[in-house]
Amino acid sequence: MEQAEFYEHDVTPAPNAPNLVQSSSAMWGCLGCLPHGDVRAAFRRGTSPPTTKGVLVKVHILDQEFLGIPHAIASFLVEARDGPILIETGPAGVQERLEQKVRALGFEPNEVKHVLVTHIHLDHSGGAGYWAARGSTIYVHPVGGPHLIDPSKLLASASRIYLDQMDYLWGTTLPVPAEQVVELGDTTCEIAGLAIRAVQSPGHASHHLAYLFGDRLFTGDVAGCRLPGCEYVSVPGPPPEFQLETWLESLDKLESLTPSKLYLTHFGEVDRPQEHFARLRRRLQDCSDFVYQNRHLSPQALMGAYQEWDRREAGRWGVEGEAYLAYEKANPSYMSAQGIGRYWAKKLSSSSAS
Ligand SMILES: [Zn+2]
Repeated sequence: MEQAEFYEHDVTPAPNAPNLVQSSSAMWGCLGCLPHGDVRAAFRRGTSPPTTKGVLVKVHILDQEFLGIPHAIASFLVEARDGPILIETGPAGVQERLEQKVRALGFEPNEVKHVLVTHIHLDHSGGAGYWAARGSTIYVHPVGGPHLIDPSKLLASASRIYLDQMDYLWGTTLPVPAEQVVELGDTTCEIAGLAIRAVQSPGHASHHLAYLFGDRLFTGDVAGCRLPGCEYVSVPGPPPEFQLETWLESLDKLESLTPSKLYLTHFGEVDRPQEHFARLRRRLQDCSDFVYQNRHLSPQALMGAYQEWDRREAGRWGVEGEAYLAYEKANPSYMSAQGIGRYWAKKLSSSSAS
């Protein structure tokens, strides 16, 4: 199907016994896998963590065609031993299209029993309630879980940013029943017969998870944005949680996993992770420096200056015209000006107070 890509690679099947297993690896600490509500009994703990090397897995990239724009937001469908796993739902407004694409791959939507979201920004998990209504279990960081169950605060804060554009951008977000939410920290667990490592990776959002399937890493927003056919890496730094230092630490952590490929929600496959991480580190530092150097501007003037600078930076990589507009849809630069501006305001006020 259009935009679907197919890969096979080695990922070891998880051990037979447990449905969901908490990693015993000290390296990863242990928030573990915590079923929300009273379904804990449905999960048994194993004595050893499943490994992540071994069976063939197929990964399909599903273009949500968000607002009619190609390559702005992706979901990924992984064919695992015991059925399909969806990574990222996109916003509620793309649900119908996404279901069509799942069907085109030969699956009924109610066969998607497992949906992993990297964080709870609406372009990543806004459709979770619809998948839950189809019977899916939704996997999310513990900080994000309560906001999927009761999205009212999330929607109220998004409404303050997007005003009357909420419906147009995101559609109608539905809550997820608590018993269908499983909260993951840094852990390795078995999902649909596959050993999957959830990796806490803050910086873009404090509750961000990346997911490692074998040597393939699904990065949400922590690996930035890079659209197909382009080399430019843009930084998604919306308010309120951009944090340069923790983001750089997250990149070190992700790189230490030595993935062979990255899958970016904005957008698609990156096959030279080291080069990509190096570029993103430089971009993060440059974006932060630019905002610091322009910290005396009003918020409005900073947004304008940042947008102009970002456009020039993209132009240095040959990203112009329509291609730049696609970047702006996937990751509006004015949002990063706000988010990085907020980061510096907090940092400077706390250092002057101390
Ligand atoms: Zn995000």
